[in-house]
Amino acid sequence: MANHNPQNPGDKATFRFRFAPSPNGWLHLGHAYSALFTERAARAAGAELLLRIEDIDQTRSRQEYYDGIREDMNWLGINFAPNIRFQSNHFADYKKALDQLAGLGILYPCAATRKDIDAEISRKATPDTWPRDPDGGPLYPGIWRDRSDADYARLTESGVPLAIRLDMAKAVALYKNRNTFPLTFEEQGTGPDGQSGKIQPDPQIWGDVVLVRKDTPTSYHLSVVVDDADQGITHITRGQDLFHATAIHRLLQILLELPEPVYCHHRLIRAGDDRKLSKSAMDASLKSLRQSGTSAEEVRHMLGFDNPD
Ligand code: GLU
Repeated sequence: MANHNPQNPGDKATFRFRFAPSPNGWLHLGHAYSALFTERAARAAGAELLLRIEDIDQTRSRQEYYDGIREDMNWLGINFAPNIRFQSNHFADYKKALDQLAGLGILYPCAATRKDIDAEISRKATPDTWPRDPDGGPLYPGIWRDRSDADYARLTESGVPLAIRLDMAKAVALYKNRNTFPLTFEEQGTGPDGQSGKIQPDPQIWGDVVLVRKDTPTSYHLSVVVDDADQGITHITRGQDLFHATAIHRLLQILLELPEPVYCHHRLIRAGDDRKLSKSAMDASLKSLRQSGTSAEEVRHMLGFDNPD
């Protein structure tokens, strides 16, 4: 990977990479690939390698999975800088960013359940003609968008669980108002369709994304953008399944006036039947491979990381 960094060209000492697993299941070979890929890229760039534990989901995150992550990484021989960041220690930071976005008038509360969303979509169209986001989910049909202040006040006072959504059309309009340059990012790896180089993503393909979930006071998109900036991450290496999410992250970075990292999306390790590996499908965990006598060298070899460089 080239040592290009739009923030600080040529200053290798400040390069920072991160591996950011969620402690909500046992890591599998896909995570090992991502961690080894990140370690190799960080080493080649002479960068620091940080570990971030993405534990905003307090109901699914468990100590034993965190311990498992540490064991897996030790086993693979991957060393991180000592300052590990736990997202659960940073809810106040996410709230600060949220307040900043709220001040821009581009957020709104939403009480809709999945059932309400499905019902609204069936009312407006046949479900198979309704637009979908890159992950295959139906775009939010706008049930709680553009309500009166009185409606929102009543909703907030009612005590029902609320999400907070980004009004994507307003956010993009605000972006265009403030910037004459298009929204872009630098892809040093490849997207799922071979995209690389200067990418001009369109965040509107996601519709009104959730920035605060009903069950936790933040979301993946909000936290990841705040964390990467707070940790001074210059290079984001992660799986191609997150390539399209970069559109949202770049939009939020610009609206929050945060620095621009470089992105490097990598291929996904697939299961025998060509599906993406997943924790919930009980794909072979690194822990079980380790316990059944597979060596870390064999895993490195299997994933194409034989040579330390
Ligand atoms: N926590 C995410 C995952 O386990 C990675 C997030 C990221 O790299 O942006 O897939």
